Amino acid sequence: MSGKGSQPSSYPQRQQAASGYKGKALDVITASGVQVGDALIAKNEKLSVSGILMPRSELDDDRHIVIKLKDGYNLGISVESLTLQRLQPEEPRRTAPAVEAKSKPGLPKVAIISTGGTIASRVDYKTGAVSPALTAGDLYQSVPELGEIAEIRTEILYSLLSENISPENWKSMAQSVYRQIKEGADGVVITHGTDTMGFTAAALSFALQDLPVPVILVGSQRSSDRPSSDAYLNLKGAVLAASRAPFAEVGVLMHKGISDNGLVIHRGTRVRKMHTSRRDAFKSVNSPPLAYMNDGQIEALQPFRARSGGKLPALKADFDPDVVLIKSFPGIPPDMFDPLIHRGFHGIVLEGTGLGHVPEKIFHQIRRAIQAGITVVMASQCIYGRVNMNVYSTGRELLSMGVIPAGDMLPETALVKLMWVLGQTTDKLRIRELFSSEIAGELSQRSAYTEGRE
Ligand code: GLU
Repeated sequence: MSGKGSQPSSYPQRQQAASGYKGKALDVITASGVQVGDALIAKNEKLSVSGILMPRSELDDDRHIVIKLKDGYNLGISVESLTLQRLQPEEPRRTAPAVEAKSKPGLPKVAIISTGGTIASRVDYKTGAVSPALTAGDLYQSVPELGEIAEIRTEILYSLLSENISPENWKSMAQSVYRQIKEGADGVVITHGTDTMGFTAAALSFALQDLPVPVILVGSQRSSDRPSSDAYLNLKGAVLAASRAPFAEVGVLMHKGISDNGLVIHRGTRVRKMHTSRRDAFKSVNSPPLAYMNDGQIEALQPFRARSGGKLPALKADFDPDVVLIKSFPGIPPDMFDPLIHRGFHGIVLEGTGLGHVPEKIFHQIRRAIQAGITVVMASQCIYGRVNMNVYSTGRELLSMGVIPAGDMLPETALVKLMWVLGQTTDKLRIRELFSSEIAGELSQRSAYTEGRE
């Protein structure tokens, strides 16, 4: 395989350099001296577009090339009278010369703990794929004004896509936050992939009790080396919130709307990713957000736990990973519970339909699971609202078997809470009592808040 700059000559060599292209498209590509992954301008009499030449499936025709545009979309272009001209690939920001991170003396101290995700990623210009690469230090270099807001300390804990984060990682994150607070942080920011940021936020809310300072999780929907990235505004907002917010809770800070003119901080146990790609993907469920942030001003939207400088949180970071979340659906096969019971899981969160229902066909399995010592709780897949298992006789039957209702908790929060509860105690009565009481704003005994999807 030839490197960039030298020309592949044989047909197989040419095909390898232009993976998937063949026939006429391959001729145009090789005649222009470009390869898959190159930044280029494609021109014909009607258009002129720039982007990255993407690979092509062997099954695709030989008359089109595919270019990834700057906004991330792929465009197919006919090779008929097309000219291709290679450009210098766009330099990711991380290659900017390293600058010493400086801050003014006397500013609040903020620790940024980096765990990975898009906010700490860069685009692979060969394939358009995004891979974890930027550290908290890199981010700090890219947003030097952070030094005007706070005295920053950075810690690289992980470089993980958040779908790979597990309860063990939550424990380490909680321990890191604890250590940073012990070492004098006035606030902590955790950069995190957005996919499971809500789970981690809930986990830290349970694991770090009596917090004296804010702990702000932040992510981004567009990788930080894209010009359209939301990473910088979000990161700056998170550092502002960590250093100045009046509350001492775990929050998730992201865009409030699709434009850049407002941020929102959600309570860690009430937040859910509700959209795959929008910047305002995160919404508070069954609760207003904790606060809005406009032009750096924080407007609290509900009562909160206030800062209390100089204290340490109570670290309760053990989680039991042997808990599963099962969504009920029409026709759910009863025997799918057999291996769960056999394997001896410790907890099952059922995501029931409506007010908290599952088909009667699986009742005997739920009874078996509870008799085998498994804690079974019921949340609702409706997401908004609360379970009420007293309305129908089927719900009452589940309650009498010992199923514990999750009130107005998000199913994901109920999962994390059950893992946390089972990490604290094995006593059945205490499990029920802990799960049913409010620990970190995750549960209200009555749903006063019935609308407002923010
Ligand atoms: N799936 C990855 C994650 O959650 C990237 C998505 C993101 O960060 O938004 O870490």
